[in-house]
Amino acid sequence: MPMPLSIHPTDTPTSAAERQTILDKGGFGTAFTDHMVTIEWTEGQGWHNAQVRKREPFRIDPAAAVLHYAQEVFEGMKAYRGEGGAITLFRPDQNAKRFNASAQRMAMPTLPEDVFVEAVQALVRTDRDWIPGGNGSLYLRPFMFADEPFLGVRPAHHFTFCVIASPVGDYFKSGPKPVKVWVSREYTRAAEGGTGAAKCGGNYAASLVAQAQAYENGCEQVVFLDAAEHQWIEELGGMNIFFVKDDGNLLTTPLGTILPGITRASLIELARSKGLTVEERKYSFDEWRADVASGKVKEVFACGTAAVVASIGEVKFEGGSFQIGQGESGPVTNALREELTALQRGKIADTRGWVRVVS
Ligand SMILES: *Cc1c(COP(=O)(O)O)cnc(C)c1O
Repeated sequence: MPMPLSIHPTDTPTSAAERQTILDKGGFGTAFTDHMVTIEWTEGQGWHNAQVRKREPFRIDPAAAVLHYAQEVFEGMKAYRGEGGAITLFRPDQNAKRFNASAQRMAMPTLPEDVFVEAVQALVRTDRDWIPGGNGSLYLRPFMFADEPFLGVRPAHHFTFCVIASPVGDYFKSGPKPVKVWVSREYTRAAEGGTGAAKCGGNYAASLVAQAQAYENGCEQVVFLDAAEHQWIEELGGMNIFFVKDDGNLLTTPLGTILPGITRASLIELARSKGLTVEERKYSFDEWRADVASGKVKEVFACGTAAVVASIGEVKFEGGSFQIGQGESGPVTNALREELTALQRGKIADTRGWVRVVS
């Protein structure tokens, strides 16, 4: 690492008993480990002051640019306790690359990929006792925000990069049962030339009103359509989407205005090595409905780091709904989920160099 990372362990660590109670509770994103990583960036000086330190609230000026203009990007990844107790990350280099792509789109400084990966590994090492066993994992959230106090509109001159960690169980409260999705025909999340492909907080802020409608309609997630014609399927609020055809082959929506998921890319590669074809093409909501009605589409699933592969059992929209297959998680979805999770947890051999052992 080209930058010294100083380690300052907390004086008040969570006791082993208390930690175990927290780990036993499961859930997603509600509990946090004892430490965090912070690195600062200042115009003219670059990155400096890299630390692993006690997790605590930031002191932030009320005029900090992020609070007004949302100059912020983030990543999501997991550390696993795999076979034989090895602690692993899955394709962390891809998170580092995407973090920088998001940063560039938001006029923020990029972080050398090795610094990003080392920051994540340093936190995992420090808080390794927080990695749950079984189906759990340690969710890692690297992010960066503009904290220069300045109300003029221009890229900020000071940023903080931070990594926090949260022990997690299953993402959806319903566990591995299929989820219900709400197709929003009113709100969109991304447009050509916009920030759809960047992992930035602003995209999520803009998606929440649709997410609230999904909850009101008994659904867990929103399916967004394109901004121009309101007919082409894009993705969910925080997950990409795949359709399984009656011959077992796959279709997924193309890159461009969607977030380029690492789970999406990995599943495409896994499916192709199993001899399946994966079409990446525009697919309309009308086509989806017709294909489910005619039996041409048998399974649909969403994918992302948090939920991995989540089967979609029912689709609701203003004025109607339809069920997919028998409303159960289907065989192709299950096989892909098993293969990917087995790979991530070191239960099957990694022939692609995707799994990084944290030493
Ligand atoms: C993070 C994210 C995904 C999934 O990406 P992964 O790399 O697979 O975790 C999909 N869509 C959106 C909008 C996201 O923010």
